[in-house]
This record gives sequence, structure tokens and C-alpha cells, in this order.
Amino acid sequence: MFFLGIVIHGFLLRRVAASATPTDEQWAQLNQTVGGRLYTSLPLAASCFSTVNGLPSTPNDTECTLVQQGYTQPDFRFAHYSAHMMPQWETCQSTVQRCLLNSNDPSDPAAWEDNECWQGAIAPYYIDVRSEDDVLEAISFINETGVQFSIKASGHDYKGRSSFGSLSLWMRNLDSLSYSANFTPEGGNATYPAITVGAGTPFEDVYSFAEENNITVIGGYHQTIAASGGWVQAGGHSILSPIYGLGVDRVLQYKIVTLDGVSRTVNEFQDPDLFWALRGGAASTFGVVLESSMLVEPQMSLRVASISFNQTADNARGFLELLVNNSYKWGQEGWGGHMGPATLINVNPLLTLEEAQASVQPVVDYALAQNGTAVIEDLPSWQTFFAKYVESAEASVGVQTILGSRLIPTDPFFTDDDGKEALVDLMVKMVDTYAVNPYIIQGTPFLYNYTEGTTSVTPAWRSSLWQIGFHENMAYNATLETMYAQYEIVNNITSWMRELAPNSGAYFNEANPYEPDHEVAFWGDNYPALLELKNKYDPFKLLDCWMCVGWQGPADERYSCYLNISSNY
Ligand SMILES: Cc1cc2nc3c(=O)[nH]c(=O)nc-3n(C[C@H](O)[C@H](O)[C@H](O)COP(=O)(O)OP(=O)(O)OC[C@H]3O[C@@H](n4cnc5c(N)ncnc54)[C@H](O)[C@@H]3O)c2cc1C
Repeated sequence: MFFLGIVIHGFLLRRVAASATPTDEQWAQLNQTVGGRLYTSLPLAASCFSTVNGLPSTPNDTECTLVQQGYTQPDFRFAHYSAHMMPQWETCQSTVQRCLLNSNDPSDPAAWEDNECWQGAIAPYYIDVRSEDDVLEAISFINETGVQFSIKASGHDYKGRSSFGSLSLWMRNLDSLSYSANFTPEGGNATYPAITVGAGTPFEDVYSFAEENNITVIGGYHQTIAASGGWVQAGGHSILSPIYGLGVDRVLQYKIVTLDGVSRTVNEFQDPDLFWALRGGAASTFGVVLESSMLVEPQMSLRVASISFNQTADNARGFLELLVNNSYKWGQEGWGGHMGPATLINVNPLLTLEEAQASVQPVVDYALAQNGTAVIEDLPSWQTFFAKYVESAEASVGVQTILGSRLIPTDPFFTDDDGKEALVDLMVKMVDTYAVNPYIIQGTPFLYNYTEGTTSVTPAWRSSLWQIGFHENMAYNATLETMYAQYEIVNNITSWMRELAPNSGAYFNEANPYEPDHEVAFWGDNYPALLELKNKYDPFKLLDCWMCVGWQGPADERYSCYLNISSNY
């Protein structure tokens, strides 16, 4: 094997042959250096099947029953290395090799009686990371062997970026949490109220911890997203973001091990270029983040509007018109939330209960006229809201789901009659053509006082009021042909969105997995500087992921399980 070695920061960097395969001895040595926490993996549901990876296997009924019970539960998936929230990323989609249960009925025996179980895209080796030393040892091994690797925290990624390669760093058990009312970024002297969150800590733990400390953390809308993982490195929207900014706006410091094996504390004073890159340039690109420190707010009460009714062919357009007509005013009043053709769940920390009631009265009237329900209430904290409305609703996981989305500029779509009509037409077309509901997120930093140039997300975030997304679910046993057809629907709908607002962008974490011209869509003018920093901090391209900064492209063998969907990457 040919090695090119240079010494940076006292660490020997080597360019090794791509996709090297470590020997058994090398794996054994790695296992020793990480305290015996290198594991081999099998798919989550392997215990149900009698053929696993082409070999006969004896099903384990007890384990299989546990998997069936937890199959669609986020906490169960979060606790298992091989599980991802969207299980198509556990599979090899291009060869249709998988090991899935029927998410509509996980006890359906047809799943394992009619199929074999295959490893799919799950990395065969993973390290259960428990310390910075584990990461340093892993990076040293990766430099030495050139093995392709990925990083997994929660497995929420919508594009399979946490499940590929031969080795995975599983960060879930770096689950620390601390709060300081006087946090000082290293090298600075100003203090901030901030929490410091380990790479694997889920938002559900962060929110209960915040409640105990009488503070509010601005975070994501699902209990098991890792607060310091992909969320805070690629953008991070919250329904409180309209007032308090994105996750990347609020982060004060990251601890990261870069690919040269250097452990860094990165903030506006130390490695400020890398700090900027991490604030939106996305995860799995510049190194392995160990923790992040984020600004917090005092505990706050929230006015909550929760509205829903039965959607019919006749009543969706009227409601969507009301949403479009009112959203600019709602944005100015500080509302954020999630909406659809027959649902709305919005929160507001600024208005009184009476003001909040008056503000949403038009949508309340509409819903009640459809025999729907409307609750406008006052809740004492984010945690009480989250427990009542988000955790109890349990976003469905364990279902093969494709997501597409684009950011919708404020002007002209909320300021001009023609713009408003075009936006309503687009959403109605989604419903009428494909029976796909728009999933509207009012979570852009609409009122947030942004300091220009401090983050690297697409500038489109700063001039948009909504993100419109949508979900397309695939059956657990979908054929290749069906999968292609479903991705085509996602491509068609996102292309309508691009036609509507060609100069806007998309949120890296939640965009169509096959978004064309992704560099511009996800980062706009920030891309060239991000690429330079990628080359600076990962010169030998040890870390790569689908459509990430410096991506090596779909032909790289790491991506052999993605579908061959022709578009202009
Ligand atoms: C049900 C659901 C709800 C969601 N709600 C929201 C929301 O409200 N707001 C929002 O902004 N987004 C939301 N998302 C999107 C979510 O933010 C992204 O999927 C995010 O990337 C998840 O990060 P993770 O680390 O938890 O997931 P993972 O799949 O584990 O990782 C995602 C990416 O981050 C990388 N990564 C993880 N940990 C590290 C690390 N320590 N160092 C370097 N790279 C790392 C992985 O390699 C991968 O590329 C939601 C997703 C789902 C499935």
C-alpha cells in the first residue's frame, strides 16, 4: 500500500488507498484501544429471520418480540445502533437488500417468512464512543487504514448520512448535560447563560433538564434528535426560531476532533473559520463533534393554538388561503409552528392569551365551521408544551419515509396578492395531484436580529417565512420500481417549488435527497468558502457524506446503495 505522510500538529496524516480493508489484527487492535467497545453489527430485526446475510440463522423469538414492540418507537430506535428513524437507510435500496418489519403491523410474520435479512447500509463495525480518547483512537485508525466511516448520533438523518461505510462512530452514549449561568467561551471574557450538551444527548433529556433549571432551550420538534449532532451543525430550526434564531445562531462553542487527530475547542476566538463552517456547513464534514454549548433563555410561558378538522377535497384550499394570508402578521407577532391543510399547532411567547385568541380567530372560526376543534391556551413552559403536544403525538418512525422541502421567501409569497395565490396554488396542486399534504413550518428566524456573516447556512433562511416540506411513505416491502416512482413524486413536487422560487434554497437536513445543484440550494454564496475550509481541515477527504461540502459524488462506492436517480447533482 502506498502512503503519503505529512506531519500536522504532531500527528501523522496519511493518504491511503481508498476503501482500504483493515485486517482482523487491525480491528482487534482497535478494539483494544477503545476499551473493548468495538462491536460488529446486525440489522435491528435480524433475530426474526431464518436467513441472515445469506447464512442460515436461528430466530430468537424473545428478541424478535421486543423488536416488534419497539419498532415504531423513537426511544427504542434511538437505543439501538442498527436502527435509523427512517429504515430505508438501514437497507441497500439499489439492490433491495433489507431486513425490515412491516411498520403498519410489526408482528406481521410475512416480513420474515417471505424474506431474507440483509445487512443493507448498516456499517458492519461500530465503536460505542464514550470519551474523547475513543474518537482520537478512531481517527488515528482511520488515518492509518483509510477505512470508510460514518458518524451516527440518533439516526434521524433523512439522507442516510449516518449509515454507511465499514466503521461507524456511535455517539449516542456521550450524553452529558450541564448548565452555567456564566458560561465563557474559551479565549473570550463575556459570559452567557448556556448549556453544554454531549454529542448523543437527545432533546427530550435537554428539555427536562432545562425545565429543572428554569431555562428554555431553543431546539427541535422531536424527542430523539441529538441536540449536538446534525441539528446544530446544519441549521436547526425550532418553532421558537422566529424570535430566538436557528440552532446555529445560538451556538457559542463546539468541541470537535478534526481529521488530523487534533481535539479543538472552537468558537469566535479559537479557530473562528472552523466555528463559522460548523455553524451551518453541516455535520459529518469537518470532524467529530464531542459537544456544543448553546445560549439559553429564561423559562417562558407560551400561548398555544392547536386547531384541526377533517380535511376534504372542498375545505383544504380555504384553510391554506387563510394560512398564507395571516402568516406575515403572525410572523410579526412572534408566532412559530407547524401547519397543514387542516391542522395548525403554533406557539407564541410574546402575546397575551387575549391577543393570541384574537390573532388566530379567523382560523379558529374556519375550523369550527368544519366541525373541527380549536384550543387556545396558556402553558407555563416549553417542556409542558412539548410533553403535551409533541411527545404525545409521536411522529411516526420506523416507516420508510422520503422528505422533500424548500424555503419559501417572504417576498412576494406573503406580501403580494399574486405571490400569495401562486403559493396556495402550489400547495393545492400537491394535494390534488399526489394526495401529498404540505407540511408547513413557520420556523425561520423571521424576527431574529441576525449578525451578517456569522453562520454558513444558506442566506435564504434569512429572507424566508416558511419551509414547506412533505412526506412520501414507502411500504416496507416496496419494489425497486415503486421506490423509483415514489422518489419521482418527491422530485416533481420539489421541482414545482424550485420553479415557484428559483432563487431560494433548501434546508440541508430536510431537503429532497436528490436535490439538484445542492451546493447552491443548501449554502448559496457560502459554498466556495466552505469548500476551502473542508480542504483545509480534511485534506485527504477521510470524511464524506451524501451532498455534503466537498462530496465525492454518487459514483463513490460508499453510495452504492443509493438509487440512481438522474438529476443534476
Ligand atoms: C421526526 C423528525 C423530526 C425532525 N424535526 C426537526 C426539527 O424540528 N428541526 C430541525 O431543524 N430538524 C428536524 N429534523 C431533522 C434533523 O435535525 C436532522 O435529521 C439531523 O441531522 C439529525 O441529527 P442527528 O445527529 O440526531 O441524526 P444522525 O442521523 O445520527 O446524524 C445526522 C448527521 O449528523 C452527523 N453527525 C451526527 N453526530 C455527529 C457528530 N457528533 N459529529 C459530526 N457529525 C455528526 C451524521 O454523520 C449525519 O451526517 C427532524 C428529523 C426527524 C426524522
